[in-house]
Formats: sequence, structure tokens, C-alpha cells
Amino acid sequence: MCKVMVDLGTESYEILIGTKLTENIRTFVLQASFSKTVLVISDNNVGTLYGNALLDLLKQAGFQAEIIFVVPGESSKSLTVADGIYTKAIELGLDRKSPIVALGGGVVGDLAGFVAATYMRGVPFIQIPTSLLAQVDSSVGGKVAVNHRLGKNLIGAFYQPSAVFMDLDMLKTLPNREIYTGLAEIIKYGIIYDQDFFSYLDQHAKKILALESTVLAHIIHRSCEIKAEVVSQDEKESGLRIILNFGHTLAHAIESETNYEVYNHGEAVAIGMYGAARLSWKLGLIHSTDVELVKNMLEKFHLPIKAQQCTVDGLFKSIFHDKKAVNGKVKWVLIESIGKVRTMTDIADDLVKEVMSEII
Ligand code: NAD
Ligand code: ZN
Repeated sequence: MCKVMVDLGTESYEILIGTKLTENIRTFVLQASFSKTVLVISDNNVGTLYGNALLDLLKQAGFQAEIIFVVPGESSKSLTVADGIYTKAIELGLDRKSPIVALGGGVVGDLAGFVAATYMRGVPFIQIPTSLLAQVDSSVGGKVAVNHRLGKNLIGAFYQPSAVFMDLDMLKTLPNREIYTGLAEIIKYGIIYDQDFFSYLDQHAKKILALESTVLAHIIHRSCEIKAEVVSQDEKESGLRIILNFGHTLAHAIESETNYEVYNHGEAVAIGMYGAARLSWKLGLIHSTDVELVKNMLEKFHLPIKAQQCTVDGLFKSIFHDKKAVNGKVKWVLIESIGKVRTMTDIADDLVKEVMSEII
């Protein structure tokens, strides 16, 4: 078992990574000064697999524990679903010290976190992320949100959990495609922050894809460490945190152009990272061999580098609607060398369009 400490100055919490974490969860909930009613939020897939074991654990620890199942998928990240959870929370008599537990992927984590941040102006929040993406990305950093019909993640908050428990065994039931999705964000951490980590991923690809537990624990641990380091320097996203957006400008455009139906997030990020690598090369920041390194790595982990059903015009219009575009300008995160990125604005439209034509 390994740990990552997230230290935000005013508050800090621990991420625990390992297997058989039952005892750790029990000890944590018993030591915290929580009220005795707990609300677990999960989706039908994850809740069916792991819900009962968690409820039993909480009940044995003396809690009155209830679970709410939401429909798997992005549509559950809505104010309507959140409203249903508020109703249940009020009916159950949850008070300001009653914890809300997220048991699921990023959808459940974002939704449950949003409810925890807003119900009674904030109640304790525990994350048990069960997808690889949720373990290395969405459960770390404190961003919680629901979607609005006019855009993703538009209604949200920064709200840190009290603790995060990541059980590696749960990844065994995760579909392969979801494993690759998480790996895209893991590759991102290597590119933006840690060249040695990038090489490690390359050298251990087979073991990673076989979900070998020591290797898996290492890459999840290092990913959480990198995200925690970046976030602790810039919790509210005014500076350094932008580097986490590497590959995401194009990814969001691809997701929106394909109505979120063709690619899942990690796949869109993979294509976006390849595009950002090509743009970095065209601007003379990196050598063509670096672009090849990025491309080979993505392909090794079964990730796409080209987006079907997109047009240059569509993608180009879309990048200006991104949440991270400020005053109509796109801030690109580009590679300086593997392990180091920089930002740049005012890149010539023609160059951006040229790269877009190469990734469709
Ligand atoms: P998800 O929550 O939809 O999970 C993917 C699928 O895997 C679902 O069908 C789910 O039921 C299933 N699943 C999850 N764990 C499983 C397990 N152990 N066994 C079997 N099936 C399992 O999607 P996701 O990729 O985990 O997260 C995507 C969401 O995360 C998006 O809404 C995105 O906006 C959000 N996100 C948030 C942040 C943040 O900082 N808050 C960062 C990145 C992504
Ligand atoms: Zn992402």
C-alpha cells in the first residue's frame, strides 16, 4: 500500500493506494468526527459490484448507511440528479457532519462531490474512485461539477475530500477501453512533468496492460503525486494548473464536434496530445523524434491519434468556446521537451488549422 499526501496549506488529506483497504476505510471513518448517517453514491455498474461490501463495512462500523444508484454515464452529472440526492439526504436526516461517499468513476465522483460541496453548504466527502481515470485524475484536485445543457462541468466548485481510497483490485472489472482512457491521462503526466516516468511507461507497457499490481500501483501513485504537486501550487487554477490541460484544448473540441458519442475523454485527449506535439514541433520547440515518441507511446496503449467525423472548420470554431479560452484567446500548452511544457497564445490560425488537418 502507498500514500500520497495532498497538502493545500489550509487543508490536507491522504490518498491511499493499494488492495484490501477495508480496514483503512473502517479506521478512517471511526476516527473522524462524523455523524452516524452516511450516504453512498454509486452508479448501477459499480454499485452492483462493490456497493454491498461497502455498506456492510459502514454498518459494522456503527453507521446508518444508505446507497443511491445513478444511471451510468455523463447524463447523471446533472442538477436534476443532484436534486434527487438532496431530497434523499434531507429525508435521511443527513446533517453537516454526515459524510457523502463517492463509489464510482469520474461521473459519480464529480456528482457526489458537487452534492457534498453544496448540501448544507458543505458536508464531509470521501472518494472511492473505481475507474483508472478517476483514480489518477478526477478524484485528485478537488474539482467537482455537474453539467449544464449548454456545456460540460459549467456548474461546480472547488471542494476537497476528507480522504481518497483507491483499490487496485477494482480495476479488474473495468472494461479495457476505460483502462486505456485512464492511461491517456497517465501518459500526459509523463509528458508534462516527468521524463523518467514517461520512459517507465514505455518500458513497462506490457505489465501495465496486464494490470500487474506492483507496476499499476507505481504508475497510479506517481500520477497522483504529480497532480497533487501541481494542484497544491495552484488550487484555484490561476497559474501552473494550466499544464494539466495539455492535449485538452483539441480534446474538448473533438468531444464537442462528435457530440461526446464517438470518443471517450481519454481517447480525445490522446488525439489532442498528438496534435499539441505536432504543433510544438511546427513551432520549432521540439524535434520530430519527440513527436514520434509521443505517437508510439499512445499507440502502444491502444489510443487513437486521429479523430474521425471532425472537420478543420468545426474544430477551429470549437476551440474558442473552450472554458479555458480567455478573452477569445486560446492558451496552448506545448511541449518544450518530454517532461516539460510551456504555454503560448497568439499562434497563427493557419498553423493551428494545418495541425488540425493532420489529426483528422
Ligand atoms: P465514468 O464514471 O462514466 O466511468 C466509466 C464507466 O466505467 C462507467 O460505465 C462506470 O460504470 C464504469 N466503471 C467504473 N469503475 C468500474 C469498475 N471498477 N468496474 C466496472 N465498471 C466500472 O467515467 P470516468 O472516465 O471514470 O470519468 C469521466 C468523468 O470524469 C467525466 O464526467 C469528466 O468530466 C470527469 N473528470 C473530472 C475531473 C476533475 O478534475 N473533477 C477530471 C477528469 C475527468
Ligand atoms: Zn482530462
